Amino acid sequence: MEKLGFIGLGVMGKPMCRNLIRAGYSLVVYDIVKDAVQELASEGAQAANSPAMVAELCDKIITMLPNSPQVREVLLGPDGVITKVRPGSIIIDTSSIAPLAAREIAAELAKKQVRMLDAPVSGGQAGAVKGTLSIMVGGDAAVFEQCRQILGSVGSSVIRVGEIGAGNTAKLTNQTIVAINIAAIAEGMTLAVKAGVDPSAVFEAIRGGSAGSKMLEAKTPLMLAQKFDPGFRLALHIKDLANVLETGKEVGAPLPLASMVMEMMQELKADNYADCDNSVLAKYYEKLSGKPIGLPGE
Ligand code: NAD
Repeated sequence: MEKLGFIGLGVMGKPMCRNLIRAGYSLVVYDIVKDAVQELASEGAQAANSPAMVAELCDKIITMLPNSPQVREVLLGPDGVITKVRPGSIIIDTSSIAPLAAREIAAELAKKQVRMLDAPVSGGQAGAVKGTLSIMVGGDAAVFEQCRQILGSVGSSVIRVGEIGAGNTAKLTNQTIVAINIAAIAEGMTLAVKAGVDPSAVFEAIRGGSAGSKMLEAKTPLMLAQKFDPGFRLALHIKDLANVLETGKEVGAPLPLASMVMEMMQELKADNYADCDNSVLAKYYEKLSGKPIGLPGE
C-alpha cells in the first residue's frame, strides 16, 4: 500500500482523504484542528503532530490549505515539511493560491531536490465527496505522470496545463469566469423581478437556451430560495479574486469585470456575508434595487 501524506483536512481535504483511503492508499494526516485529525484517524489514517512528521513518514505529500501564507508555513516554515523531507520526494499542492507563490515555494523545495506540482481543483465540496473534481495541474511532465493515479482517485478530470504555476493560473481563470457569471445571473434576475415577472418562471424559460450554464443551474435556485449556506464561501472567492487581480497586474491582463465583482464582494463582506455562499451576490443587487430576487422558502 503506497503511503501518502495529507495536510489540510477542511471542507475539501477531508472528503479527498476518504476517497484516497477508499482507493487503497495508506494516509498520514495533519491539520492544526486536532478534531479533524482524530476524525480521520478513526477512519484508518495515521495521525501526525506536525507537517515535519508527515515528511518523515511519507515521500509524497498532498496539501489542501486556504491560501499562499498557509502553504508557505506548512511547507517551508520552522516545523514545516522542508525540515524533514527526503530528496526525491514530491509535493502536490491542491490549494488555490497565487501562481507566483507556487513558483516561489517550488523553487525553495527544489533546493532540497524535492519536486512540486500545483494542482488546484474545481467542483466544490460535492465534487470532493464524489471524487469527481476537475484538477488543473502545473509542473514537470514526468512528475505529473508519477502522480496521475493519485489525482485520479480524487478527480474525474486531471489535466496538465503547463509548468509550475500554470495549474493556479487555470484555477484563477476559472474563478474569474465563475465570479462574473454569478454577478451576471443576479443582475439578469434583478431585471426580471423589477419588471414584475416571476424569476422562477424566467429561470425555467431560459435554462435550456443560450444563457444556460452550470452556474445558472447551481446558483439560481439558491438565489430564488434566499438560501446562502456554503457551498463556496464568499471569503474564499474574495481571496481568489485578490490573487486574480494581483496576477493580472503582474502579467498586464486587463480585468475590468473581475475588479467590479471584487468591489461587490467586498461590500457584501462589510455587510457580514463573508461566510455565505458566493451566490449571496444576489444581496448586492437587492440592496441597489430594493427587491429580493426570491422569497425565502420558494
Ligand atoms: P477549509 O478552510 O475548510 O480547510 C482548510 C484547512 O486547512 C482547515 O482544516 C484548516 O484548519 C487547515 N489549516 C489552515 N492552516 C493550517 C496550517 N498552518 N497547518 C495545517 N492545517 C492548516 O477550506 P476548503 O474549503 O477545504 O478549501 C481549501 C482550498 O481549496 C482553498 O484554497 C479553496 O479556495 C480551495 N477550494 C475550495 C472549494 C470549496 O468549495 N470549498 C472548491 C475548490 C477549491
